[in-house]
Amino acid sequence: MKKISEYPDAVRIIFLDFDGVMLSMDYLHATGKYDSFDPNCCVILNKLLNQFPDARIVVSSSWRVGMTIDKLKALFADHGIDPNRVIGYTPWINTYLERGAEIQDWLDRHHKVDCVVKDFMIIDDNVDDILSHFNRQFVVHTDEDKGLTHYDLDDIVQRWSPNDGRTKIL
Ligand SMILES: [Mg+2]
Repeated sequence: MKKISEYPDAVRIIFLDFDGVMLSMDYLHATGKYDSFDPNCCVILNKLLNQFPDARIVVSSSWRVGMTIDKLKALFADHGIDPNRVIGYTPWINTYLERGAEIQDWLDRHHKVDCVVKDFMIIDDNVDDILSHFNRQFVVHTDEDKGLTHYDLDDIVQRWSPNDGRTKIL
């Protein structure tokens, strides 16, 4: 098995939910905008992307259904987030509330095929169907009212710090 250092283009994947993560319920209720991101959450996501240049986004939100990758990229661009960091979305498996299975399917299909995934983080406000598939160390459970916050950012930065021993070929 090669060491991760032998894969200079290896990436970290952020599996990203929208409702309760990029669109906080506080923002939704204050503005009535159900198809927009909360600007505060966008600031946090951009900080995360800036801190980890090897991080890429794979959309796991149900918003992905019926949208093309170009439409998803445009949605991020409209909110000031680099669309080039968005590389895909998880498949829609006909098992409602089996997001963990969909994420595992994406990893099975793409890891070492399109990219080498050296680490990943699943960010969601509903995690029951994720924790049935993944260890808690790969999951960030957001507060749906606030969406992605500084606390979540600090949590991810700590977990992705270079000395924590997570980095490996999966
Ligand atoms: Mg959600």
